[in-house]
This record gives sequence, structure tokens and C-alpha cells, in this order.
Amino acid sequence: MKNIKDYNIEDLKQELIKLGEKSYRAEQIFKWIYIDNVTSFDDMTNLSLDLREKLKNNFSLCIFKILRKQVSKDGTIKYLFDVLDGNSIETVLMKYHHGYSLCVSTQIGCKMGCKFCASTGIGFERNLSSGEIVEELLAVERDEKIKISNVVFMGIGEPLDNYDNVINSIKIINNPKGINIGARHISVSTSGLVPMIYKLADENIQCTLSISLHATNNEKRSEMMPINNKYSIEELIQACKDYIDKTNRRISFEYALAKDNNDNLEDAKELVKLLKGMLCHVNLIPINKIDNGKYVKSSNENILRFRDYLNEHGITATVRRELGSDIEAACGQLRRKNLNQE
Ligand code: SAH
Repeated sequence: MKNIKDYNIEDLKQELIKLGEKSYRAEQIFKWIYIDNVTSFDDMTNLSLDLREKLKNNFSLCIFKILRKQVSKDGTIKYLFDVLDGNSIETVLMKYHHGYSLCVSTQIGCKMGCKFCASTGIGFERNLSSGEIVEELLAVERDEKIKISNVVFMGIGEPLDNYDNVINSIKIINNPKGINIGARHISVSTSGLVPMIYKLADENIQCTLSISLHATNNEKRSEMMPINNKYSIEELIQACKDYIDKTNRRISFEYALAKDNNDNLEDAKELVKLLKGMLCHVNLIPINKIDNGKYVKSSNENILRFRDYLNEHGITATVRRELGSDIEAACGQLRRKNLNQE
């Protein structure tokens, strides 16, 4: 059965016309699904019984089951969802003073193979559909009885390797008739799929693009991130410049600091050279060590020295707050299957 959450409002209108219904019904259905967050077509009480029957016969509502919920001492919550085909994924809810931010997964597993990231450990199973990505958000809103205000595509998977579904999920999350989270409150993070960055620049979506850079020369970056063998730093930076020119949006560069690897002043100097003059911001992440991983967190002293060097040389940089590390919900700690899962 088709997942009704896979359809953006325009496509849902077409589906309804095919069923012999008026297209404005799509707006009513959107309200039930994305504002009221109902779990059954029977709850859509302003639709005729006949239409509710048709919907039941043609679509599912794709309601995830919570397999596990862990709450960190800092308030961060990690969910393990059963995505209804025997697979499971993790989603993380973070509470900030300005509201709730949700870190969504985009794939079951990941193909990128970054050496410092746990998500890559058990290989790749499949893409999540757009409706499944949106359901991550709805399931959390139902469970916590909250409204989420920011979405970051930084969970398991490479968003730009599941391009169409991710873009469609942004359209759904964005829709004023539904969840209504502005594109500026949505961030998409990529390990650097260069052709897809060019494509994204042409979409005319005002979301924030984050680039996982982590190193300033090809030798070091390729060692950390195999994708760099396919698209070099030079090609990546060129794509970013094109993206900024076209969209006028500031890019956020993620740089995970690992002790004795990429955290000394020479690296900071090279980073300044690489990013000089670009409309950008650097997000420094103290790297989280994964099981059997060789990268360990930089000292606080090195992290601050790195940050200050960037700021003093014209590149704005901040250190990302570490949330949820006690429940393995921090950057790079999410897994396709939870190892403790029964
Ligand atoms: N595949 C996408 C999005 C998922 S990762 C990407 O690569 O951008 C989200 C962010 O967490 C990325 O910047 C990623 O490089 C970073 N990350 C992964 N493992 C990490 C770790 N062990 N410590 C800190 N950050 C990590």
C-alpha cells in the first residue's frame, strides 16, 4: 500500500482526482495528518465516510513504532523506530532555548564509509522514503506532545545520496498548510556529493547547506572520508562557491576535531586559506570516538585555540555544543541497528 505521507500537496491532489475526488480535499487531509497528527483515517471527521474508506483502501498512514526511547541527562532524546519492514533507525530530539530541533535519518545505513562515523558500520540497506522521513518528525511530535521548530538532516545516511526523497520531504515539512517549518529552519548536511550540490543550488529552496569538510588537504580528507577520492576538496569548494553565488545563502562547514589529526594551528591556517572570502561559518565538533575508531577528541585547549585562530583571521567559527553523548545520540554515534536491540 502507498504511504500517503510520501505525497507533497500537489501530488496528493492528483491522487485524489484519480480517485474521483475534488483536489481541495488534499488540504483537509494535510491538516489532519500534519497539524492534528492523527493515526487513523477514521479520525478525519470532516471527510465523508466514503472518502475515508477510499483512503483506507488505497493508502497507509505509516505510523512508526517506538522500539526504544532514551533520555540523556541534558534532555536530549534518542528514539529507535521500527520502520515497519523489519528495519530500524534512530532519530534525535534536542531541546534548545529557541525550541525543539530534530535530527532525522535519511537512509537505513550509509554508503559513505567515513572512518570516524558509527552510522557506516553495518553497511547500507535502503533509502528512506520522503514519507518515512516526515514520519520521524510526526512520531516524535506525537510522543512528546510538542511542535518541532528546526529540522537537521544529520542523522544516519547521506541526504544527497537520497536526493529526490529528501527534497520532497523538505517540501512537505515546509508546506504552510501542514507542518510549516520554514526552509531557513532546515539544514541539509552532506559529505560532499559535488554534482548534487550543483543540483541543490538550482532548487530554489532556502534551506541551510552544511558541508562535512573535516580536513583541508586531499591526503588527510581521503583518509577520513573515502568520498574525497571521488570528489576532491578543490571540486567541493568550487561547488560551494557556485552554491553561494546562486543562492546567496551562507554555507556551514562542519569540522570534527580529532587529536593529533586535524587540530593543530597548521590545519587552522590551511582552513583559513581554503575558505577565505566565502560567505560561510565553521562549526567545530569535538569528534566523538566510536568503537574501534582511531580518532579521539581534541583537548579543550586545542579546540579553543583552533576556534580563536579562525575568528581572528576572518572566518566565523563556533564550537558545537555536545548533546546526548551519554546515550550515544551525539554526532556520528547513530546506528542503523542498535547493538543492544533484542
Ligand atoms: N552524511 C551527512 C550527514 C550525516 S552526519 C554528512 O556527512 O554530512 C552529520 C555530521 O556529523 C557530519 O558533519 C558528520 O561528518 C559528523 N560526524 C560523523 N561522525 C562524527 C563523529 N564521530 N564525531 C563528530 N562528528 C561526526
